[in-house]
Amino acid sequence: MRTTDAVWLAPGEPQEIQSDLVTRFQQEYGRAASGTWFAPGRANLNGEHIDFHAGRCLPLALAHGTYVAAAPRTDGQLRLRTLDPSLDDGVTMVAPDAIGPGAAVEATGHWSQYVSGVLWALRELGDSQPEFQVDPDFGADLLVLSTLPIGGGLSSSAALECASMLAFLALGTPFGQENPLQNLNAALTKQHRKDLAAACVRAEVEVVGAGTGGLDQSAALRARPGKVLSLDCRDFSVTPLDIGCILRGYRLIAVDTGEAHRLADGQFGQRRADAEAATALLGLDRLRDALPERPRKADVTHVLEEFDRLSEQLETLEGRSIAACRRRLRHALTEMVRSEKLHHLLSGDSYGVRHIASTIGDILTAGHMSMRDDAEVSFDVADMVVETALAQGAEGARLIGGGFGGSVLVLISPAAIPKLTAALERISRSIRLLDVAPSAAAHAL
Ligand code: ADP
Repeated sequence: MRTTDAVWLAPGEPQEIQSDLVTRFQQEYGRAASGTWFAPGRANLNGEHIDFHAGRCLPLALAHGTYVAAAPRTDGQLRLRTLDPSLDDGVTMVAPDAIGPGAAVEATGHWSQYVSGVLWALRELGDSQPEFQVDPDFGADLLVLSTLPIGGGLSSSAALECASMLAFLALGTPFGQENPLQNLNAALTKQHRKDLAAACVRAEVEVVGAGTGGLDQSAALRARPGKVLSLDCRDFSVTPLDIGCILRGYRLIAVDTGEAHRLADGQFGQRRADAEAATALLGLDRLRDALPERPRKADVTHVLEEFDRLSEQLETLEGRSIAACRRRLRHALTEMVRSEKLHHLLSGDSYGVRHIASTIGDILTAGHMSMRDDAEVSFDVADMVVETALAQGAEGARLIGGGFGGSVLVLISPAAIPKLTAALERISRSIRLLDVAPSAAAHAL
């Protein structure tokens, strides 16, 4: 008989995980690891499907994440193994000439591309920043262990990229040689972290071939403990915002539905293409520019009316359904308004605790409805989790991540959690809960 505690997925104790990983590294590769690096997963208060429209996102880092133990090689090769039971297929070798765009690594879409893509992107970055220059013969052995659900909408892919990035930086560049082991953490400036996040985005877009807009990599490399990162994707500037006002008397929980979204790649692309077709019809390069600095609902109505006027005589939009494009447009615009509202709510201090929690809860729930009805990326279990959480007294709940699987973020008082976990167990035995305690960005252990 399972206890209620069994549904919680703990982040584990970093020192214990590191020690276990280093022992396994020795067993796997017959030599010692030179170090261990960690990057967190993330939850997102708001800002799904709008990073690529230059909107604002409000992520925070989890204590759960991905650990990489590594040691350098001098033959340019990568040898990679993951300890994730669903992906472990032994050691994958990546030859030097198979590192980079267009160089398919074994089967298309193999997880090793996230890692080899990062080495390629760091080499590219090193071309313009000598401190990050990677020796042409540099290669590495890597062992990967994650405490995140894979494909759970909590950004295990970006955590893998960012932990690998720090490993390559530490082992393969002049910067790493000058700042060995944990010294790396203090030596990395805000600008370095911004540049490294941009390089990880290049790896994912140009090597893996996924349409990321940069939210996940920024969260993993630039998050701050105890803060929400308000990320303005127009210029990727960040404002860390205090989240204490929400968490005093409340908790944020990520409910992993157990439905992984790894098979839905084509669907993400369709959603993005719909919204981009609408953006082009409006004559804009980036949709964020359709709204003023502090947008309101009326501004969304105005843009939608403009869209209706421009599409009136058309049968399709670049072969796409006009009604569908309009829904994607409405999701992106209302999501941008919610993000700006949250940014200003968390920046100010004029709200009482109860008021701010219920206001933020309402924004979360409105975000879910938009993901369900306009972006159309939700799914049955996520909708049931949101309904159940609200019925158990949560202040708000929403699907986070790209959708078609993944996790729901819930804002709830601690007293209501036991009833919530019991109710969730009745929905699915695959559901797992993660405590969302705003944690530190990627670092060397
Ligand atoms: P998520 O929301 O978890 O980021 P994605 O579908 O975007 O989901 O990324 C999941 C993919 O990232 C996996 O299929 C795999 O290719 C890669 N990945 C993530 N974590 C690991 C890991 N620990 N080991 C190997 N590959 C991983």
